[in-house]
Amino acid sequence: PVPVLTIDGPSGSGKGTISRAVADALGWHLLDSGAIYRAVGYAAGMAGIDLSDAQAVTRCAETTKIVFRDPRDGGETRVIVNGHDATDELRTETCGAAASAIAAIPAVRAALFDKQRSFRKAPGLVADGRDMGTVVFADAEHKIFLTASAEERARRRYKQLKEKGLTVTLSSLLREIEARDERDATRKVAPLKPAAGAVVIDSTAIPIDQVIARVLAVVRP
Ligand code: C5P
Repeated sequence: PVPVLTIDGPSGSGKGTISRAVADALGWHLLDSGAIYRAVGYAAGMAGIDLSDAQAVTRCAETTKIVFRDPRDGGETRVIVNGHDATDELRTETCGAAASAIAAIPAVRAALFDKQRSFRKAPGLVADGRDMGTVVFADAEHKIFLTASAEERARRRYKQLKEKGLTVTLSSLLREIEARDERDATRKVAPLKPAAGAVVIDSTAIPIDQVIARVLAVVRP
């Protein structure tokens, strides 16, 4: 079977950067599953759907067209939602919160299951998310759980957003991140937790290149 490396963890743990670097180093495909949940949250918002209307949001998850487009110039992957490049909007904490709200609906997760599985293609896949190792790729051969303190994760997100020219305060970001963690960890369906057998890495005090090296060592000891 095509090998899969799952990297799960809370937002701001460095998952995005590390998953991309590891996928590039291995020459494997990358699945940013958070972007799929964000895209559905975004599409639902654009359509004026009440995020607590489980049926309407599920229909939205089933019909939203999400395309990941790799730029030819080596820049960042663009996410096209129903034909519109929503890459920048998807990164906002508004979209993160919308994603977290719709991700708690079991039928939404079920609707997105096959789409996520379809990313498993030769020579291999790095799958970044919350339930990659516990649910979607429970059969993966390599599993990582990446974490960091909430303060450190808020600082990283703050830096990222500021570089994008977005105005936020560190304290409001920390509050939002803690609220989102709480919801992701306590929801009934696919709560955030390390998969059985996952290698847990706390990146709070470790430089990113060392985290990447540790993850690569799990795949290629
Ligand atoms: O990783 P990211 O911050 O982009 O994810 C946004 C939200 O989508 C998370 O807070 C989580 O609620 C949800 N999500 C999920 N399962 C995944 C990926 C993301 O529930 N595999």
